[in-house]
Amino acid sequence: MKIPFLNLQASYIELKNELNDAYQRVMESGWYILGQEVESFEAEFAAYCGAKHCIGVGNGLEALHLILRAMDIGPGDEVIVPANTYIATWLAVSYAGATPVAVEPDERTYNIDPLKMEAVITRKTKAVIAVHLYGQPADMDSINEVAGSAGIKVIEDAAQAQGAAYKGKRVGSLGYAAGFSFYPGKNLGAFGDAGAVLTDDDELARRVSLLRNYGSPVKYYNELKGFNSRLDELQAALLRVKLSKLDQWNERRKQVAKQYLESLTELEDLVLPFVPEYADPIWHLFVISYGNRDRLQKHLTDQGIGTLIHYPVPPHLQEAYLELGYRAGAFPLSEKIARRVLSIPMGPHLSEDEANQVIEQLHSFIR
Ligand SMILES: *Cc1c(COP(=O)(O)O)cnc(C)c1O
Repeated sequence: MKIPFLNLQASYIELKNELNDAYQRVMESGWYILGQEVESFEAEFAAYCGAKHCIGVGNGLEALHLILRAMDIGPGDEVIVPANTYIATWLAVSYAGATPVAVEPDERTYNIDPLKMEAVITRKTKAVIAVHLYGQPADMDSINEVAGSAGIKVIEDAAQAQGAAYKGKRVGSLGYAAGFSFYPGKNLGAFGDAGAVLTDDDELARRVSLLRNYGSPVKYYNELKGFNSRLDELQAALLRVKLSKLDQWNERRKQVAKQYLESLTELEDLVLPFVPEYADPIWHLFVISYGNRDRLQKHLTDQGIGTLIHYPVPPHLQEAYLELGYRAGAFPLSEKIARRVLSIPMGPHLSEDEANQVIEQLHSFIR
């Protein structure tokens, strides 16, 4: 029996009728870019997250990039990013022409460490991007406090955390602005690429909505040198259907996480995810850490269990970032995490029985 890492098709099948209706509604409307569906999704997602504005954009990378552009961050500026993140967080900074400055994570949560962040702030620092990695909120009060006293803005990279909460407040409303991705595999996923920017700041929202559409407030009049990065009507209509299911699906993920957490204790050298008191994570990924990770992964693969590594190479050691001159050892904690982490099957359609089989195989390998 095969257990996939994530079963995306099951999400479609569960909502097939509603999704097909939404598809048909858009196809028959004759209107495909920046219309009623995008506006409705923006209003619904802003309300869901408790933010004033939502601007639908092309993907998560563009959401972060357009925030930085709208803030006039560019060459000569520094933006603090986690050393331990998906490379998109860094690329958004590079696209804007600014320099990513990496900071090691907290050893237990894998999220950016506010104290280490304080240590790298310079006169050039304009912002910090806090990533809610694996669906668990970063320590936003501490991050906001450090950033606030240094006069820099906090941007959330909430690509992995739709619906996660910090001290009872949903992510996306916890900093100056937030970028979301709706890549199909995210907890709220489209059927293609999609993303959004959230903010309470009226002027930032106005600038992002210009930048996503050629910098144009009125057709064929351009106030800014903008981009083409729009959420399309079809994806917006499909996302509206899935948004109505998000809480239920996140709850199901929490049940799976509970099952894993309760059944995988006391396995030697296996480190389980740590959830701080302030966090209500939505388990985009369930990431274990193990010294002999590669052999464990092979064992699970041989048993038909799908796993992934998030991520095998941290951004500072990627060929794409040779220019920054980082060497192996520059961020030892992030490098250690990259050597040890393994994401095991997690999703709203993983059955209790399937999770039990994953647990069994972990026990039989590690014991
Ligand atoms: C997925 C992801 C992104 C990028 O989103 P895309 O929609 O794929 O561009 C950015 N940051 C993090 C942490 C992500 O997981």
